[in-house]
Amino acid sequence: MTTTPVTEVETVRGPVPTAELGTTLMHEHVFVLTPDSQTNWSDEWDEETKVAEAIDKLTQLAEVGVRTIVDPTVDGLGRDIRRVARVNEAVPQLNIVAATGVYTYADVPGFFAERGPGALPDLPEPMIDLFVRDIREGIQGTGVKAAFFKCAIDHHGLTVGVERVMRAVARAHAETGAPIMVHNRPAGNTMAEVRRVLGEEGVDPRRVQLAHVGDSTDADMLAGLAEEGYLLGMDRFGIDAILGFEDRVATVVELCRRGWSSRLVLAHDAACYIDWLQPDLKPFLPNWHYLHIHNDVVPALLERGVPQDQVDEMLIHNPRTWFERT
Ligand SMILES: [Zn+2]
Repeated sequence: MTTTPVTEVETVRGPVPTAELGTTLMHEHVFVLTPDSQTNWSDEWDEETKVAEAIDKLTQLAEVGVRTIVDPTVDGLGRDIRRVARVNEAVPQLNIVAATGVYTYADVPGFFAERGPGALPDLPEPMIDLFVRDIREGIQGTGVKAAFFKCAIDHHGLTVGVERVMRAVARAHAETGAPIMVHNRPAGNTMAEVRRVLGEEGVDPRRVQLAHVGDSTDADMLAGLAEEGYLLGMDRFGIDAILGFEDRVATVVELCRRGWSSRLVLAHDAACYIDWLQPDLKPFLPNWHYLHIHNDVVPALLERGVPQDQVDEMLIHNPRTWFERT
């Protein structure tokens, strides 16, 4: 088998050379929605207003020099790639990288309950082909291709549904080579199950991004994961209610001091609009927006002795190499 190195990444506006991704925020959503609840209960959604707001926020982000956002919005988070494409059309100076996968902490979505393993009778896993289709052909019948996989494990641990999605993602990864991002809950050490399951599936840790491990301040634990090759998502800057600014910054500083800047990526896990949060609670998270890293985090890292070239590794080099493969 001959392999050619992949040095382009699919984005919402088409393939982009990885060398041109530039400053990249590795985990930002455009919209996080609960379509069924929005349809039934919400008076918050207005398509034109929400699209216009997103265009405005992403334009501001591009103005401070961010060239790319990596958006892990998949089934379970209200992915609608046509809406994101419409936003991106108005902000062509920003690359948006799309994902495929299923986001659940417990059961698979009802759609998959009686399709696949566990159905009567037991059937082959349909998610694998659907994920591969998103990577190779495009999402929702558009030509927009996903560039990575996303799955999640949280406070319920490795449920039957979570494991089903994780293994489907691993097998679609084996078929396509596209990298994997896993949502974690470090307080529950979900990373142990991720290492075990993806290890059993033969996935190279270097192709796996452990999202949200930056919610932990345990530098020894994080350094151990970095040493195994995992890419660590220090990706919730601004969600101070889970872990405050000083703790998040200090953890990155310490890992950089130990020489692990090559295994860290930075982001906010923010969204233009997320319907999980009652709008009047937003003032309780004043730093949870796309510009916090530019305005506050990078200056704090530099001030605390992280050299500029390590900041560039976390924001430019590491995202680029995560998408490259041979
Ligand atoms: Zn997220």
